Amino acid sequence: MCGDLKNKVALVTGGTGGIGTAICARLSDLGCRVATTYRNREKAEAWQAQMKQSGHQVTIYACDVGDYEACVQLAETIEKDLGPVDILVNNAGITRDTTLKKMTPGHWREVICADLDSVFNMTQPLLPRMAERGWGRVINISSINGQKGQFGQANYSAAKAGMHGFTMAAAQEVARKGVTVNTISPGYIATEMVMAVPEEVREKIIAQIPVGRLGRPEEVAHVVAFLASEHAGFITGANFAANGGQHMH
Ligand code: NDP
Repeated sequence: MCGDLKNKVALVTGGTGGIGTAICARLSDLGCRVATTYRNREKAEAWQAQMKQSGHQVTIYACDVGDYEACVQLAETIEKDLGPVDILVNNAGITRDTTLKKMTPGHWREVICADLDSVFNMTQPLLPRMAERGWGRVINISSINGQKGQFGQANYSAAKAGMHGFTMAAAQEVARKGVTVNTISPGYIATEMVMAVPEEVREKIIAQIPVGRLGRPEEVAHVVAFLASEHAGFITGANFAANGGQHMH
């Protein structure tokens, strides 16, 4: 179904994480030339070797996506190395959970910078080039908690909700240029972060999910691949929930 992505250049930010790994692997399986960002070199090099072992060639670049100049530079470098970026997946993100009573301006800014500024920083240099070429895909990985809010996550919920506002505005600016911009809002996915939660807490989370289990990173990656494909050309400014029915709207 998504076999039309051969030789497209895809940039997945935060590819070395749980969901990012699945997205990189899926896009690579579909024939994309995939690039991703890292901050921690040791972790990234080990990750790249593992990906290679599983048959996935991914080019990695040092980049803090909270830094606009670094993102502008990255866009230039990838264009030289692999060609112009056709598909951008804004996936990098962090959490700094605490109630508002204890939340410091530092907790707030760190999350807004990594989860929301990053979307502007990486999209802004790439979107006009996609529009000039007449084809492009921007896919923003938000969260169920940007849709419904979450206790102890005012910073994260605000960043993730803001991400979809960005999606809707940007989608309108490039809709006639063959470029789509969409959001995916995953629910609880079985990544290291979620699996590290004590089992009894995890059981409580699962009890709130109508399908009765956590999501798999690959299930998010399949949505990315569909939205990146030619078949999704009429879908723009949309927010796809992948949450096992936990939040319906
Ligand atoms: P991980 O923590 O496993 O991975 C996050 C990735 O983002 C890492 O590769 C990390 O790189 C990178 N990253 C973080 N900050 C920066 C930065 N400033 N610059 C560059 N890279 C950065 O997260 P997940 O795979 O679980 O999540 C991926 C996305 O999905 C996130 O946006 C998250 O909010 C969202 N999400 C996750 C859910 C889940 O259940 N897991 C549910 C809903 C949404 P490094 O390690 O080098 O810092």
